[in-house]
Amino acid sequence: MKFTNFLYYVFINIVETLIRFFPVPTKTGCRKIGSPDQDSPVFLTCNFHLTVLRVKRALRGIDCYLLVANSKGINVWCASAGGLLNNHSVISIIKTSGIEEKVEHKKIILPQLAAPGIEANEIKKKTGWNVIWGPADAKDIPSFLKKNFVKTTEMNSIRFSIIQRIEVASMWAFMISIILTIIWLPLFLRETPAMLIQVWYISLVVFLLFPLYEPLLRLRKRLLFVNLGRILVFLIILFSAAVGIVIYVFAIKQYEKWLLIRWCIFSVSVVILIMIDLAGTTPVIKSGLLEERTFSIAIEKEKCEGTGICIQVCPRNCYELNSKTNKIRMINAELCVRCGACIVQCPFDVLYFKNEKGQVISPDNVRKFKLNLMGKRDCCIACKISNQLIKA
Ligand code: SF4
Ligand code: SF4
Repeated sequence: MKFTNFLYYVFINIVETLIRFFPVPTKTGCRKIGSPDQDSPVFLTCNFHLTVLRVKRALRGIDCYLLVANSKGINVWCASAGGLLNNHSVISIIKTSGIEEKVEHKKIILPQLAAPGIEANEIKKKTGWNVIWGPADAKDIPSFLKKNFVKTTEMNSIRFSIIQRIEVASMWAFMISIILTIIWLPLFLRETPAMLIQVWYISLVVFLLFPLYEPLLRLRKRLLFVNLGRILVFLIILFSAAVGIVIYVFAIKQYEKWLLIRWCIFSVSVVILIMIDLAGTTPVIKSGLLEERTFSIAIEKEKCEGTGICIQVCPRNCYELNSKTNKIRMINAELCVRCGACIVQCPFDVLYFKNEKGQVISPDNVRKFKLNLMGKRDCCIACKISNQLIKA
C-alpha cells in the first residue's frame, strides 16, 4: 500500500510538473494530518494540488491541521505576489473551515512565501488569529517545529535546487514539445524526434547553467541599448544550440541547405522563447519594470522599532538587526528580488520602494495593489496602476 502511495506521489509530481503552466486547483477546507487535538499546530497552504500533496508529505508524522485556502489553483509565491492568495483567502478559510471549534489556540502557521500578499496585522484584526511565518520550503517544517517555531537563516531563504531547475526546464520543454509536435510533425516527420530532443536540451541548458552565467546578468554595461550581460548569455545559449545542430547533422550525415536553415530558425526561436520572461519563470530576461525603473528598498531608519518581522519574511536574507541600535539594516541589498514582503509586513511602514529619480511606491500602495516588482508587469493592470501612482 505504501509503495502504491509512493508511486502515485511520483506520478502526480511528474504530470503536474509538466503542466505547471496551468492552475491545478484542489478542494479548499481543513485536512486532518495524523491524530490532531485542540493543541495541535494549524498550517495553511494554497489550493494548488501539487503544493497540497507536497505539504502533506512534509507534515507526515506530525499531528496537525492543514487549512487549504483558495488561491485559484496557483502556487503560494505566484498567488500571493499576484493577489490571488490574500487576506480574504485566509480570513474566509479560518471562518468557514470549522478550525475555531477544533483547536483552543489562535495561532496559524503561514508559508513564508505568502508574505507579499497576506497582511499578518489584518488577519489578527479581523479574526484574532496570530500569524507565524513558517519556513520558505515545506520540507523544513519538521525542523521548524523542533526548534519551537524558530527559523534558521537557511529556512528563511529560497533556494533553487537542481531538481527544481529541472522541473521548470521540463515544464517549458513539455509545452514547447506539444506545440512543436502539432505544427512540425505533419510537415517534417523524420526531423521531429530530433527536434524534440533539441528543445529539452536547450531548456535544460538555460535553467541548469543559470548559477554559472548569473554573474554576467549583473553587468551594468549596455551595447546598443541592450544589457551586455544578456547579450553574452544569449550567445552562450545559442552556441549550445548550435552544438545540438552540429551533432544532429553529423548523426544523419545530411548537409542539405534547407534542413540547416530550418534547424537554425527553429533553434533560435526556442532559445528566444525560453529566455524571455513569459511566465515569470525564465531567469534571463526578467521584469521590464525592475530594469527600467530600478526601484529598490528604502528604509526610514528612525521609525524602525526592531521587531525583526522583515527578517522573518525576507526570502533572500537581506536584513540584519543591529543589536546596539535595535534598528534594521540591509546587508544583502544586491540579493533583493523586490518581492515586497518586508514592506507589506512592517507594522511601522519603515520600508518602501524608491528609485534613482526619487519616485516612491508607498507601503499602502504595495499592499493595496500588490505592487511588488517581481515578474513581468508592463502589460498588466498592476503596472498600469503603478504608472499612474508614480506619475501622480
Ligand atoms: S523595518 Fe519594520 S519590520 Fe523590520 S525591524 Fe524595523 S519595524 Fe520591524
Ligand atoms: S528585502 Fe527584497 S527580497 Fe527581501 S523581503 Fe524585501 S523586497 Fe523581498
